[in-house]
This record gives sequence, structure tokens and C-alpha cells, in this order.
Amino acid sequence: MEIIIGKYSGFCMGVNHTVKKAMEEVQKNQTIYCLGEIVHNEQVIQNLENLGMITVHSLEEVPNQSKVIFRAHGEKKETYQEAKKKNLEIIDLTCGKILFIRKKIEEKRPDHYILIIGKKEHPETIGTISYAGEYSGIIENVEDIEPELLKAEKSSQNKIYIAVQTTFSTQKFQELIDKIKNKSKKEITVDNTICDATEKRQNETKQLAETVDKMIIIGGKNSSNTKELYNISKTIQKNSYIIQNKNDLEFKNFKKSDTIGIMAGASTPKETVEEVIDALKEEIK
Ligand code: SF4
Repeated sequence: MEIIIGKYSGFCMGVNHTVKKAMEEVQKNQTIYCLGEIVHNEQVIQNLENLGMITVHSLEEVPNQSKVIFRAHGEKKETYQEAKKKNLEIIDLTCGKILFIRKKIEEKRPDHYILIIGKKEHPETIGTISYAGEYSGIIENVEDIEPELLKAEKSSQNKIYIAVQTTFSTQKFQELIDKIKNKSKKEITVDNTICDATEKRQNETKQLAETVDKMIIIGGKNSSNTKELYNISKTIQKNSYIIQNKNDLEFKNFKKSDTIGIMAGASTPKETVEEVIDALKEEIK
């Protein structure tokens, strides 16, 4: 059995920074809260919770004057105001690439209708759109284009500015942009804000899926970028499997003569990847 691991597998720069900083904070032995899953990986969350971090799903659960982590996806503008009212100390680990998108939106907002291409339920998109104000909308699928452009055409803003969720599919982004450009009557400025870490992973997944017999994509079940890698992989390689960790491996799917490609999402620690490889080597002899 040959195993090829994608060189862009695993933690991206933003997640690496987040986990490192959170680890430093919990080691100070103070109670620290994290708003939402710190990264979409159960193992990482468990390790930090074992050291004292408490994951909450709303600021209402955080006592006044406590310390709270805002994770790499970023939070809504209103959440900062809410935290201020409660005198919380914010450890803001929002990734720099997401801060850049917010800054661009605030620059463009006075005379642009803002469109975000992204998944409507993804925390990053929810956070980002909160910076865009009244004249804004989200496009996730082709069906969203017409209603959103209609709102943009009717608005007093004479131009349109478009940014994209950092972990969105590059291919789908291009398809949506082409359609939007064909249909819009207003001048459009587009910033492709898909993170280079996402782009490299997606490209490498395509290349690997084309050359191996089977693909394994490793990542948390709530990880959008991991699901995207799996979607890309399975369109090329029907023998693609998505797993959270070694416990999800179904050994009957693999045999000794296979060449197996492995990719891991941006929130998957390298230990999880190593455990999967060890388990495969152990079982498939
Ligand atoms: S994928 Fe990119 S934008 Fe998202 S946290 Fe990682 S480095 Fe930041």
C-alpha cells in the first residue's frame, strides 16, 4: 500500500495561530470562555477543554468581566458591542484574512451595494455580512443571483462590491461571478478573497484524486473546508471517503495494492493524520 499525503494538509496559518494562542491562555490557569467551537475539530476542542477552556454558544453564558475568545472565523459586529456591555476581555483571534475583508467592506460601503458569496449559515459569512449594513446580501447558489441583483439595482448605491468567504469553492465562485457579471447593470468590483490556503488545498486535492486509487479526506464534521475537499475529491475519484479520525476508517474499503491519497482540512491537527496513517498501515498488511 502506498500512501501519499497532500503537502497542504492540516492546520492553516489562521487555525495554527488560534490554537497556539488559546493554549497559551488556558495555561495561565484562568477561566477562559470560547464563543463557538474554537476550530471544527473535536480532538482540539477536547484538549483545550481538558485544560480549562469552556465552550459557550452565546455571550449570555459568559459571566460579566470574564475572558472570552473570538475564534478565527470572526464574530458579528454586534457581538463586540454586547461583549463591551458585559465588560468582557476579548481575545480576538479573528484571522487577518477575514479582518481584511471586513476592512474592504467598510471602505466600499458608502457607495457600493455589498454582496458576499458564501454559505449563508457559515459563521464567517454571518460575521462578515454584519459589517456590510443595510445595502447588502449573500449569494450562495445560482438561485440567489436574481433576487439579490434586483435588490442591488433598486438600491441607491450606484456600484456593487463583491467579496467571497475565505473557504468557498474556487470553481463555484468563478461560476457565480460569471453569471453575476452577465446579469448586472451596475459597475462591479470583485475581490477574490478565497484564502490561498484554501485554494492550494483544493488544487492539490484535485491533483491527488486524479492519480490515486482511493482518497481519504480527514476533518471535523462541521468543517466547511473539509466538506469542500471531499466534494472536489468525489467528483474525480468515486472511491473517496471523509472521516473525522481513525475511528471512522472502514478497513474493508482498502487493500494492500492500493495507492491512497490523504488530504486534511484546515482545522485537522497533524496528530490526527498520523493516527489515520498508522491505523491503515497496521490493519492493511
Ligand atoms: S483558511 Fe485562510 S482565512 Fe480561514 S482561518 Fe485559515 S488562513 Fe485564515
